[in-house]
Amino acid sequence: MTGPRTVRAPRGGELTARGWPQEAALRMLQNNLDPEVAEHPERLVVYGGSGKAARDWRSFDAMVATLRDLRPDETMLVQSGRPVGVLTTHEWAPRVLIANSNLVGDWATWEEFRRLEALGLTMYGQMTAGSWIYIGTQGILQGTYETFAAVAAKRFGGSLAGTITLTAGLGGMGGAQPLAVTMNGGVALCVDCDPRAIARRIEHGYLDVAADSLDEALALAERAGAERRALSVGVLGNAAEVVPELLARGAPIDVVTDQTSAHDPLAYLPLGVDLADMADLAAERPAEFTRRARESMARHVEAMVGFQDAGAEVFDYGNSIRGEARLAGYGRAFDFPGFVPAYIRPLFCEGKGPFRWAALSGDPRDIAATDRAILDLFPENEPLRRWISLAGERVRFQGLPARICWLGYGERERAGERFNAMVASGELAAPVVIGRDHLDCGSVASPYRETEGMRDGSDAIADWPLLNAMVNVASGASWVSIHHGGGVGMGRSLHAGQVTVADGSALAGEKIRRVLTNDPGTGVIRHVDAGYPEAETVAEERGLRVPMRVP
Ligand code: NAD
Repeated sequence: MTGPRTVRAPRGGELTARGWPQEAALRMLQNNLDPEVAEHPERLVVYGGSGKAARDWRSFDAMVATLRDLRPDETMLVQSGRPVGVLTTHEWAPRVLIANSNLVGDWATWEEFRRLEALGLTMYGQMTAGSWIYIGTQGILQGTYETFAAVAAKRFGGSLAGTITLTAGLGGMGGAQPLAVTMNGGVALCVDCDPRAIARRIEHGYLDVAADSLDEALALAERAGAERRALSVGVLGNAAEVVPELLARGAPIDVVTDQTSAHDPLAYLPLGVDLADMADLAAERPAEFTRRARESMARHVEAMVGFQDAGAEVFDYGNSIRGEARLAGYGRAFDFPGFVPAYIRPLFCEGKGPFRWAALSGDPRDIAATDRAILDLFPENEPLRRWISLAGERVRFQGLPARICWLGYGERERAGERFNAMVASGELAAPVVIGRDHLDCGSVASPYRETEGMRDGSDAIADWPLLNAMVNVASGASWVSIHHGGGVGMGRSLHAGQVTVADGSALAGEKIRRVLTNDPGTGVIRHVDAGYPEAETVAEERGLRVPMRVP
């Protein structure tokens, strides 16, 4: 069979391949295409526009057959979703090496990529789609939670209790905002112009209530804030109208951000356009639509700057709304920062990033046991404790049960070794895969997002993700990937990923210790090199050798 079919990873402790690293790669490839996990599994699309797990169904079948037969001293090479070779290596080498969507600099445009894709020569791998470690919406929820936890730590003494956050956009990614704010104890006031987006978030338990008017929304938010009660309120409206209106009223807003789909001006509703007419107008008069959307974004961003002038904490949440407002001629668009320089970079300096794992048993009890292990290992980390407890209650698994939490240099390796010991002792029903997003401290060059505004101006230096990938190969990861264009599009990023299997063996323990130390270690090194004193402190305190900086 070479066409679309329903894919689901096998569960349990029986091998269908010649070893657990191969079995794990096989199950995670299949899991990425599970209909519970993938957005469009019939097209092999996992998430993020057109991010795919395999180039076509023939390539998928060939990868499955190759992984089943792959020996513990062999390595499968994957070129943009297609298995192109099997080489004899050795037991410590990765079982799979993946390169997705990479193009030579001058050719790295969407136009050229689409041309090559149409010829069947490449595929878009996004970050975790083509590297087989996507775990569903838990990933975005946790990242958003972590950002708001960092806002709370920076401005509000560690909790958002008693504060009101104003944002817009309750779509696929932005819909995580209300839950992330309430998980941090705060009140979220969320504007969306589409009643279906508001209804869907309530149905999925991400949003608490929908208000019938702006007056009601504000009253609900203010009352909850005064009582220091966590609450999220959705309100229907155009953000380009509602945000300036709230500013004019002097609403007591503490934090302002936005996740409308501003990165694509044809997806932002301009002022004066009805939602019902949006799609037709965008299709029939794209230039006029773009101009009007940008003008509206300028009004929206101007009000965000107004809130900042009034003392609120304001940041861009990675949707390019500042850039679009500037294109409309608004001069102060970049007066507020992007979220990475504002909150995430200090975490990157500690080697912190989106550590994640999945239970190959398919048994949710394995994740519950690893959750308890994390709480036991890091009792002093209060935001981590809150996240793990709330995730256990509120996150619905998609595909193989999985968990994500941010851990730093020195912490990831402790968690990985504990998980491996739990597999060895039989406390877990089957092995666990341990990986991460490519959005991590040392694994990405992306000047509009992860490496915006680096202290030494090194935003576009892409040696770092390549070094990171080579370090993971040299340290014993089970599969390693190098991708181009994830998150922000062609020509704008280079990034690397690793996944390592805890199968309970002594060899796996050795590999885990090296990979989970060295992988975040490259993040600390990258930030020491860029001149961040916080990273120098971490390197010094935790014994990481950086020849040019630390004695
Ligand atoms: P989406 O298209 O699913 O949702 C966008 C929402 O915005 C929709 O519900 C739409 O109705 C609403 N909207 C559009 N115009 C509006 C207006 N004028 N007023 C009020 N609401 C309006 O998009 P998504 O997947 O949720 O992503 C949103 C944005 O966030 C994108 O630009 C994406 O690139 C960015 N993003 C950033 C990160 C990050 O790392 N920070 C992660 C994910 C997404």
